[in-house]
Amino acid sequence: MRVSLTVEALCFKYEVMSEKVKVLIIGSGPAGYTAAIYAARAGLNPILYTGGQPGGQLTTTNDVENFPGYPDGINGPQMMIDLQKQAERFGTKVNYGLVTSVDFSGYPHKITIDEKEVVEAETVIIATGATAKYLGIPSEETYNNRGVSACAVCDGYFYRGKEVAVVGAGDSAAEEATYLSKLCTKVHLLVRRDEMRASKIMQSRVQKTPNIEIHWNTETDEILGDESGVTGVRLVNNTTKEKKVIPIQGFFLAIGHKPNTDIFKDYLDMDESGYIKVLPGSTKTKVEGVFAVGDAADRVYRQAVTAAGTGCMGALDAEKFLAAKEAELIGSH
Ligand code: NDP
Repeated sequence: MRVSLTVEALCFKYEVMSEKVKVLIIGSGPAGYTAAIYAARAGLNPILYTGGQPGGQLTTTNDVENFPGYPDGINGPQMMIDLQKQAERFGTKVNYGLVTSVDFSGYPHKITIDEKEVVEAETVIIATGATAKYLGIPSEETYNNRGVSACAVCDGYFYRGKEVAVVGAGDSAAEEATYLSKLCTKVHLLVRRDEMRASKIMQSRVQKTPNIEIHWNTETDEILGDESGVTGVRLVNNTTKEKKVIPIQGFFLAIGHKPNTDIFKDYLDMDESGYIKVLPGSTKTKVEGVFAVGDAADRVYRQAVTAAGTGCMGALDAEKFLAAKEAELIGSH
């Protein structure tokens, strides 16, 4: 009787422990999937939660021309499908769910999915990426999805044969303006300074495109519209203060991104913009067994290839952490 109880107790204990996730990855961009590929190949049976935008930001981009290994470029969504397949091939379990809160106060870490299910994880790799920023003017909200969009590749098709504006002056704005110029009759690029931040090659592409007009020193005063959606935009020149209205049907934002890190703010150190701070040269956060990779922890480079690189680092750091924990456990017996 006593023996059987012990066995039962042991079995129960074993069951519970085997249900614990060794590596839980939050996010399904290049960082998350690369972490998954490495963790799966290390036999750690990772579980990856995709978040609200499976595939991440690259699913909203057209051609990725700067990821090594693709001499002819690759379509962003296709690249993400390939990365998912590669991660699954080695045993990653990809779950479609949103992590809505975390509890890093104890160990193992507790992660709540879709406000319901709680998963316990020995290590967590945060690869939640970043989200498009908006200007913060009321008319932007009024016409959101009725002419206002933060993704030209997703929504550009609806504006073919129409006139549109793109706000921003970085690589995203240059890329989106170029993309839209192939669909739309005219693209107005609204640049708030007298120069663009975009790389020289992207700027030159924009400048050589006949149906893109760059408006320098120009800010958005108001997006105008009616029941049909956006009909125009009132611009203000920030040097002359002169205002003018241009007729457009689509208004695209390309002014950068905010890291998706709000759910971690009670536990992790972050900079003023919300990028997670990691120990230099690693992906370690200040919480044991929690690692941050990709755009969520990178305000400087923010490239698919650097995200993938840090994803790899995250998996290696998690693997090392687990090995040390295991050695500690064996040593204590
Ligand atoms: P960036 O942060 O590089 O640029 C944001 C742009 O938006 C800046 O030009 C900024 O103006 C402008 N901006 C910000 N706030 C406002 C505002 N309120 N009103 C008007 N303009 C505003 O973001 P990106 O998304 O362009 O790029 C992010 C990273 O991704 C970069 O490293 C970029 O190189 C990379 N990227 C690479 C691509 C590729 O290689 N295919 C494609 C897209 C992005 P200001 O310059 O005055 O600050």
